[in-house]
Amino acid sequence: MPATRPAWSDDDVEAFRDLARSFLEKECAPNEERWGAQQHVDREIWNKAGELGLLCPSIPTEYGGGGGTFALEAVMAEEQIRANAPSLGTAVHSTIVAHYINSYGTEEQKKRWLPGLASGAFVGAVAMTEPGTGSDLQNVKTKAIKTGGEYVIDGSKTFISNGLLANLVITVAKTDPDNAAAGISLIVVETDGAEGFSRGRVLKKIGQHGQDTSELYFDGVRVPVDNLLGGVEGQGFVQLMQQLAQERLVLAVAAVAAIEETLAVTVKYTKEREAFGKPVFNFQNTKFKLAEVATTAKIARVFIDDCITKHIAGELDIPTASMAKWWLTEQQCRVADECLQLFGGYGYMEEYPISKLFTDSRVQKIYGGTNEIMKEIISRFL
Ligand SMILES: Cc1cc2nc3c(=O)[nH]c(=O)nc-3n(C[C@H](O)[C@H](O)[C@H](O)COP(=O)(O)OP(=O)(O)OC[C@H]3O[C@@H](n4cnc5c(N)ncnc54)[C@H](O)[C@@H]3O)c2cc1C
Repeated sequence: MPATRPAWSDDDVEAFRDLARSFLEKECAPNEERWGAQQHVDREIWNKAGELGLLCPSIPTEYGGGGGTFALEAVMAEEQIRANAPSLGTAVHSTIVAHYINSYGTEEQKKRWLPGLASGAFVGAVAMTEPGTGSDLQNVKTKAIKTGGEYVIDGSKTFISNGLLANLVITVAKTDPDNAAAGISLIVVETDGAEGFSRGRVLKKIGQHGQDTSELYFDGVRVPVDNLLGGVEGQGFVQLMQQLAQERLVLAVAAVAAIEETLAVTVKYTKEREAFGKPVFNFQNTKFKLAEVATTAKIARVFIDDCITKHIAGELDIPTASMAKWWLTEQQCRVADECLQLFGGYGYMEEYPISKLFTDSRVQKIYGGTNEIMKEIISRFL
C-alpha cells in the first residue's frame, strides 16, 4: 500500500503482504457485493483465511499464531482497503480479541482459545457497547454474577462487529455491579450451544455493508469461572484501557490506507473523465484539491509509520494513539468527501469504489472510542 517500503517492514512482512493481497483479491473482493447484500461474509472464509495463516499473525506460534509483530496486522488492514475488500472483520478478530487473550489469559486460557482463533474455528468479537452505554463504559449494566463454579451473565449488547458469526465473545460485564470501573471483568463466552445466548438483528448501516454488526442478548448464560479472562475479577477496565491503544492504531492504519487509495482512484478518474473538452484533472480546482489531498496523504503516512514503529517497540503512548485515531480518521472523512465531489454524479453511484470509500469512512470517527473521547483522553495528558 505505501509507495515505498516503510521502515517497520521487511522481507517477511512483504511476503505476508503478497499473501494477504492475493487472498483478498481472489477470495474476498469478488464476493463483496454479495456479502454486502447479505450483511455478512460467508462463514467458510474465516477458515480459508486461517488455513493460509492470515488470522492472528502477531500471536506467538506456540498458540497457533504467525509469530510476527503488529506490522502484519497493519499490512492486513492496509491490503483490505487496497483490494476494496474490507468486510472480513480481522481487525476485531486478530488485532483485538486474540490480543486480549494473549495479553491477559492464563496459560490454560491461551491454549484453549488462541489456536481456534488462528484457524478460524472461532470467530472473535468483543462486546462492550450496550443500548444505554457506549462512551461511558464504566456504566455497563451487563452482570456476571458468580454462582458456585459458574458466572451467570445477564444483559444486552449492541453494535457488535462480527456479531452474527462470532462464537467467541469477550463480554464486558460487571462482576461487582455496585462498583464502577473496579467492578468490570472480561468474561469469554463460547456461544455455540450456550443456553440463554441469542442474537438480535444484523443492523442495517449506511456503510460497511458486508460487516455483520449485531445485537447480542445474554439471558442467564452460564459459563465456568475459568472463563474469567486472567482469572482475577475487577481487572476488565484496566485490560480494556491497555489494549485500546492497539485498537485505535489499527483504525488509524486503515484511515491512512483509505486516504492513499482515495487519492489514487481520484487521480485516475479525473485524468480519464473529460468536461469542457479537457480532462477534469486539468481544472485548477481539481489540481489544487488533489495537491492538498496528496499533502495530507504524505503527512498521514509519516505520522502512521512513526506510530507503527513505536508500537512495535512497545513505545506508543496512549495520547499519541488517540491523536492518530482522531486526526487520521478526520482526514479520511474529509478526503473521501472532497474526492467524491470530483467524480460528479458518478461518485454517488455504488459501482464506483469512491462511493464505498466515502460511506465506509464515516464510522471511523465513531467506533473504537469516538473522536470526542480521543480528545478528552489527550487533554488529560496536557
Ligand atoms: C459499525 C459499528 C461497529 C461497532 N463495533 C463495536 C464492537 O465490535 N464492540 C463494541 O463494544 N462496540 C462497537 N461499536 C460501538 C461504538 O464503539 C460506540 O458506538 C461508540 O463507542 C460510541 O458510543 P455510543 O454509540 O453509545 O454513543 P454515545 O456514547 O451515546 O455518544 C453520543 C455522542 O456524545 C459524545 N460524547 C459522549 N461522551 C462524551 C464526553 N465525555 N465528552 C464529549 N462528548 C461525548 C460522543 O462523542 C458522541 O458524539 C460499534 C459501532 C458501530 C457504529
